[in-house]
Amino acid sequence: MSQLLDLAVDLQDRRERLTHRATAKSLRIWGQADVGALDASWDRIAPTLTTVVTAAQVTAARQSTPYMNSVSQAWDYDAHRAVLVPEAFGGVMLDGREVAPALFGAVTTTKRAIGAGMNPARAFEVGATFLATIIGAAVQDMGRQADATLATGKGFTRYVRVVSAGACSRCAILAGRDDYRKPFSRHPRCRCTSVPIPNGQGPPDGFHDTPTEYFDSLSAAEQERVFTKSGAFAIREGANPISVVNARRGMTKGGELGAPARLVPTRIGVKADGSPLNVFITGEGTTARGAFARSEGAATFTAAKQGRYRRTTTLRIMPEQIQIMAGNNPARARELLARYGYMDF
Ligand SMILES: [Zn+2]
Repeated sequence: MSQLLDLAVDLQDRRERLTHRATAKSLRIWGQADVGALDASWDRIAPTLTTVVTAAQVTAARQSTPYMNSVSQAWDYDAHRAVLVPEAFGGVMLDGREVAPALFGAVTTTKRAIGAGMNPARAFEVGATFLATIIGAAVQDMGRQADATLATGKGFTRYVRVVSAGACSRCAILAGRDDYRKPFSRHPRCRCTSVPIPNGQGPPDGFHDTPTEYFDSLSAAEQERVFTKSGAFAIREGANPISVVNARRGMTKGGELGAPARLVPTRIGVKADGSPLNVFITGEGTTARGAFARSEGAATFTAAKQGRYRRTTTLRIMPEQIQIMAGNNPARARELLARYGYMDF
């Protein structure tokens, strides 16, 4: 095993444990809600839930710093100086919305299930499943945003996808090299991460350059679990894994919001050194795509209609969007990531 593979797997394990802890804690809090009085219960539990998820996101971002430092060293890479601001990754979803209204989707999901005739106790579990999915995305997405921000800050532009153990076929066909300047493809419950590679370098030992190499690295049982028995057979017979998978089904990307018209600095807290932590938000509408984005968006829309989260039309500008705004210019991306509060250098 290469040192880089060890580092990448260690980060993924720590982030997965963090996600699991935050989810378990949140589900215990959700369990204190009264399914017969969901709105009142929500008002009681929402502040604690939001705090738990926000803290986990900041921790996920903190994990980036030792990881990217070790990876730079392992490559013997002459990295630019870049200091992440982990707090900037808390309290927000990948599409730029605040965490609380996204979590509120658990309430609307439960109510919708009851309205459709489901037994309330069962509907409450459906709401819990929704909550777990949102929290997983909230923590993993912000971890990945922090990784990409710091990698960009250090001067990397390319990475190899670290396909998580037990990943589904949609992640498996993304195995190989990709670019931090593009939004990271992911789907609900995706645990994949990235390991940066210096320009001109191939994947480090233990990583795979193509989906076929990744396929070949799996045991026969894993190949069949991921690609189905017939799919695995077809690939062994020479089919391209990408053609076997119903490509991109349910895969979503953040950062597809278009260039926001007007960005307003908003203080959301303080940094570790006591200085103010500003993020930039916009009132422009979201055009995040994909089934996952639609379901999250629908839940928020319901919340907004009910008057509970009127401010959900404000969106925070996320690192993935900044990469788009930077127009393929790494120096500009570093400058904007610092200006919008995600890092210093
Ligand atoms: Zn994945």
